Amino acid sequence: GQDLELSHVTKRYGHTVAVSDINHVFTNGSYVCLLGPSGCGKSTTLRMIAGHETISEGSIILDGTDVSHLPPAKRGTAMMFQSYALFPHLSVRDNVAFSLRMQGQDKATRHRAANEMLDLVDMIHLADRLPAQLSGGQQQRVALARALVTKPRVLLLDEPLSALDPFLRIRVRGELKRLQRELGISFIHVTHGQDEALALADECVVMNNAVIEQSGPAREVFSHP
Ligand code: ADP
Ligand code: ADP
Repeated sequence: GQDLELSHVTKRYGHTVAVSDINHVFTNGSYVCLLGPSGCGKSTTLRMIAGHETISEGSIILDGTDVSHLPPAKRGTAMMFQSYALFPHLSVRDNVAFSLRMQGQDKATRHRAANEMLDLVDMIHLADRLPAQLSGGQQQRVALARALVTKPRVLLLDEPLSALDPFLRIRVRGELKRLQRELGISFIHVTHGQDEALALADECVVMNNAVIEQSGPAREVFSHP
């Protein structure tokens, strides 16, 4: 299958062990929330899966292939960065098309793909605006389109809703769940919110002190702390 498997994954920063020998299989197409106290290793885990951080030991296997040492763009994963990471001088459409430009695709192909993703997140009508001309929720949707345009098999989200007000949070949450259904891709979503995990997750993975302490359906995880 196209499962994502972490096998003995470890990350050390000098004498600090940020992630210690974690093993987990993320089922293809599932929405997984990654929870745990600040500093327990959630972001480091996400960055290692995305390839934005090297691993000290172990391997990351996607669809049967060891991707541990591939560059981020060649892994089949994509990370959604916070909306403030949009390029301020590029239009919404060019922000979304940017990574395709890096892949050397021609302009017509880039624009078609960017438009398709902007349509998916209901932002096509604002494609010619600059990021500063958008609300927080709209910027978040652009960041989502930008992560999705490379057609990843696994989408990685690091507290994507934390900057949003409660109303927008619930709306974008619904959109994430809809995208999971429509695109059939896997999600790994770092969050502090139990309510968020209960609303979104097929599976919750709880980290503590650099290890995975617990995993299972949200209701099980939260009823047996
Ligand atoms: P979380 O996302 O759960 O808050 P992190 O993965 O950011 O945790 O951090 C895990 C541990 O690794 C922490 O002790 C943190 O201080 C340390 N750490 C994270 N990134 C770095 C880095 N670039 N250099 C040194 N230590 C780091
Ligand atoms: P959202 O539902 O994403 O929160 P808002 O309700 O904040 O959006 O925005 C409503 C409308 O106002 C949108 O069409 C948006 O494009 C426009 N808008 C919001 N902020 C700005 C801005 N800073 N400059 C120009 N237009 C804006």
